[in-house]
Amino acid sequence: MIKDHSSINLLNFDRVSLRDYCIALGEKPFRADQLMKWIHHEGVTDFDQMTNLSKHLRQYLKENTTIEVPQVAREQISKDGTHKWLFELSDGAFIETVFIPEPHRGTLCISSQVGCPLACVFCATGQMGFKRNLTTAEIIGQLWLVVRHLSEDSGRHDRKITNVVFMGMGEPLLNLDAVIPAIRIMVDDFAYSLSKYRVTVSTAGIVPGIDRLSQEIDVALAISLHAPNNEIRDRLMPINKKYPLEALMTSAKNYVQSSRLKTISFEYILIHNINDQPQHARQLVKLLSHIRCKANLIPLNPCAHLPPEFLPPIQENIDRFRDILIKAGIVTITRRRRGEDIAAACGQLRSIEIGEKIF
Ligand code: SAH
Repeated sequence: MIKDHSSINLLNFDRVSLRDYCIALGEKPFRADQLMKWIHHEGVTDFDQMTNLSKHLRQYLKENTTIEVPQVAREQISKDGTHKWLFELSDGAFIETVFIPEPHRGTLCISSQVGCPLACVFCATGQMGFKRNLTTAEIIGQLWLVVRHLSEDSGRHDRKITNVVFMGMGEPLLNLDAVIPAIRIMVDDFAYSLSKYRVTVSTAGIVPGIDRLSQEIDVALAISLHAPNNEIRDRLMPINKKYPLEALMTSAKNYVQSSRLKTISFEYILIHNINDQPQHARQLVKLLSHIRCKANLIPLNPCAHLPPEFLPPIQENIDRFRDILIKAGIVTITRRRRGEDIAAACGQLRSIEIGEKIF
């Protein structure tokens, strides 16, 4: 059956909006719960298989709705087990999604936009420019597809998705209208049943977005800080000129106070000689001292279009930086590089394999 573009993609609906949709069709609200289970638990896209729905409803859905996910354009598997998928969207745009298996958890790193408008100098996605926001269906479609893919190889504990991080392409807090329903679906028992402690939204520091997020949904938050003062941050992340550190830290503190999670993560890319010196670590300690948080140190990953003076930190400087933070009582983790051989590491997502075709 050929459906026109105006047909409704059911992957866009969280449970409340799917209930409203069912009610508008004259159906009982619990039909939404059944539909959610078919779509997200069972991975069924053929309405004829949804045997507990009436024939009439199935026919209506067939004629008026779709369950449409992105197309897999390419899949790559790193030596360390990291998977990267290149997905093609219905308008021909491409996004990337990365699965990182670890002994006791599996993290899915998903995209929220095609490209990114923030142009952070160290980030490959930022250098691509911005094309558009993803829809809820395109965000949740990444999870839907990877769950299906991993279950084909089921029985292996390390291949289950336990965590989702919005650390792929794009700035999730500039796309909250689509991101918030997607998070609701992720934590819904009728869909993916993820713990809200294990879904992390990562932001380059969109202050009004942090405030809105704290009012609308309880979810883990990571802030990409990357600098201990405005001078360095202005240079690395143009968004700092709009929302400088003072405003960002105030908003972060409010988030911690209002969130039931009571903590926040700060991501800090270490760049040789630029922000990895002891004085930077001491400034960072001051900045973080009044907020309940943990720090994630990320050694800079090489990526295309980096300014030549942007080099990865040497191990000695990483250790020294980490020790200063730990001595000051800040829980600090140094992130291991994963998937570097397939350009799946932080900041490397830009669909290189299709080059300029992306726009
Ligand atoms: N826009 C959001 C979501 C993207 S997250 C944000 O900025 O948080 C991407 C993560 O990878 C961020 O922590 C980002 O700062 C980090 N990253 C980007 N480029 C990187 C690079 N070259 N090396 C290491 N980490 C990088």
